[in-house]
Amino acid sequence: MNDETRYGNDLQVLVVGGGIAGLTCAGLLEQRGFSPDIVEKTNRYGGLGYALGLWPAGSNILKGLGAYEAFQAHADPMHTYTLLSDSGKKLHSYDLSGLAVEYGKPHLIWRPRLIDVLGETVTDENIRMGTTVTDIDQHDDVVDVTFTDGTEGTYDLVVGADGIHSTVREQVFGDVSLTYQGMTSWAFWVDEELLDRGVIKEHWGDGRFAGLYPTDDGLACFLAVAAPEGMPDPVAERKGRIRERFEDMGGFIPDVLDEMETTDAEDIWHDDFYDLKMDEWTNDRVVLIGDAAHAPLPTAGVGASMAMESAAVLAGELTRTDSTYLEQALDHYVTRRRDRVDEVQQKSRQIGTFALFDHSLLTGIRDQIVKFYSQDRMEEYYRGFLSSEI
Ligand SMILES: Cc1cc2nc3c(=O)[nH]c(=O)nc-3n(C[C@H](O)[C@H](O)[C@H](O)COP(=O)(O)OP(=O)(O)OC[C@H]3O[C@@H](n4cnc5c(N)ncnc54)[C@H](O)[C@@H]3O)c2cc1C
Repeated sequence: MNDETRYGNDLQVLVVGGGIAGLTCAGLLEQRGFSPDIVEKTNRYGGLGYALGLWPAGSNILKGLGAYEAFQAHADPMHTYTLLSDSGKKLHSYDLSGLAVEYGKPHLIWRPRLIDVLGETVTDENIRMGTTVTDIDQHDDVVDVTFTDGTEGTYDLVVGADGIHSTVREQVFGDVSLTYQGMTSWAFWVDEELLDRGVIKEHWGDGRFAGLYPTDDGLACFLAVAAPEGMPDPVAERKGRIRERFEDMGGFIPDVLDEMETTDAEDIWHDDFYDLKMDEWTNDRVVLIGDAAHAPLPTAGVGASMAMESAAVLAGELTRTDSTYLEQALDHYVTRRRDRVDEVQQKSRQIGTFALFDHSLLTGIRDQIVKFYSQDRMEEYYRGFLSSEI
């Protein structure tokens, strides 16, 4: 027998997408004796990104991966959440330390750093960068896959972890529509002089939103405005467009706009706000995890945690099964994730709508609600994100 020999019902798994969900799933599988193949479309990690808030539900999974210390070395704990109005008036400041004592510390980390940390949990030889799938053909309890580099492989299971614009989803589940949530957004670094360690500051404005997120790599700024779907964002006019939408705003915005002028427009990350709700996450021997299955809106700050939770639940189920009982394992994965994902997605839409009301009357009412929204109520609201069996 040689190394290619397949013993018993060992599962051969392909993970498409080496992002947060894909690397978490692959890392956990490797830790438990599997050797999943991973293909990642980009040639190399790094470059543009944004700050991610990671709740303990997500970061605890890093403990199981043996990567929590590396994560902590690059992540900043958050202790305060301050909300400002469109004009810059402070509406409320919430202390996050009570929740931290109850559930663990929430952290902020630059997305590429989290990818680095997760990347360390998988064997380099198992990841093929700059590669994706061109064909996925399911038959006789196996999945035949053709890759863009011309190679082919046969697997028991293909995990689609290729993000909100998933190709696996498109190829296997057909045309599943994303829902445009009426907002477009930008992210870039601003000067550390504005940095207030551990403090998130957000303007909930009138059809616009701005946030400052301190990370170990610097202070990340995220801006979003109400916009029709598909609004073009040519790089050459990007800064002008941002300035036009934000220049009459108060608070930290004037400083942020000055900072933006020192940034190359090409280094400003841009994307539109879509989310995704789909009924089926499995199709025979293809399963979706993370944003490919259940992308929430970025404003809720939970997508990465949810992606890691789904990855961990799937990996756990796979380690308790073999090829014969794969269908049952996938059913368990869906059952364990469905209610939690639905609830969090509903909340993410509520927060997104509330934070970006595009009407001055509604904005005024919202500001009053936020002013009187107590620390206790905020904690109660976030318990929904924090406390759930996964
Ligand atoms: C501006 C912004 C702010 C956010 N803030 C937060 C936050 O504070 N907290 C939070 O928890 N979440 C946040 N999110 C959401 C979070 O980033 C996502 O939910 C999370 O990244 C989902 O992880 P994923 O692995 O499913 O997808 P991704 O992280 O998108 O990873 C998908 C991977 O698949 C690769 N890929 C894509 N297509 C293919 C293909 N065809 N073949 C192979 N590989 C492919 C991609 O290159 C990528 O590496 C934010 C999102 C945005 C846009």
